[in-house]
Amino acid sequence: MKRMDIRAGAALFASLGMAAMPAAAQSAADISLTRLDCGKTTTVADVSRFSDVAAFPGLKIQLTFSCYLVKHGNDYLVWDAGNPAATPDKTLPTSPASSLVEQLAQLKLTPAQITYVGISHYHGDHVGQVASFPQATLLIGKGDWDALTDAKPIAAANPANFAHWISGGGKVEPQSGDKDVFGDGSVIMLNTPGHTPGHHSLLVKLKETGNMLISGDLAHFRENYDGNGVPTFNTSRAETLASLDRFKKLAANLKATVIIQHDARDIDKLPAFPASAK
Ligand SMILES: [Zn+2]
Repeated sequence: MKRMDIRAGAALFASLGMAAMPAAAQSAADISLTRLDCGKTTTVADVSRFSDVAAFPGLKIQLTFSCYLVKHGNDYLVWDAGNPAATPDKTLPTSPASSLVEQLAQLKLTPAQITYVGISHYHGDHVGQVASFPQATLLIGKGDWDALTDAKPIAAANPANFAHWISGGGKVEPQSGDKDVFGDGSVIMLNTPGHTPGHHSLLVKLKETGNMLISGDLAHFRENYDGNGVPTFNTSRAETLASLDRFKKLAANLKATVIIQHDARDIDKLPAFPASAK
């Protein structure tokens, strides 16, 4: 019996050691994080509707639209696909000055080099250019994927942008929990539902700059993040509060820098494009 216990203990120790390996092994890949412009940043918005407890009557905040590129060795993740880019026949008030494809070209990257396109959630200002990456594997929360593929999609979802994947033409991996994107613990899509059913945020562990937590729309601006605010248009108040609790505890324990994607005041937490944080 005693010998068995020692063996079991050794096996447990070995398995814990194995479980800890990916985090330790992350030094292998060269990782960097670049912010991409995903929409006009001139909007000063009345944010009253971002609080279901009327916390911000008449408050106006400079909102922005940001997307991100994560380089991991020779693989790339584009995080969120922003507002639709201008086309020869159509420019929306929120169209970015240059498309994601044009910005990637400045980094000498083609859409075919993008391994994954990760989408925080199905709203139009996060999915506008997803179709520019047909060869990428689509990573999206299962709750949002289910909404996009529903026979009668809700108005807030944008299935037309995902036609390539919905039709079976592209590879999609719907996520019901967290997703360790590159398998070494360095880049993790975090399951943070509430804004939408399958909403995700992103953790990127940079070697020099440290851990970065990118919000998705878990919060849209600092005042709502600090006060655990819930927008009137979220799909679940309870899930939003639980997700904020998780995200904040992660940020504290990992000593992470939090970047709120829509808050223009968070922009300079990363170097200006085309520079990246490593
Ligand atoms: Zn948004």
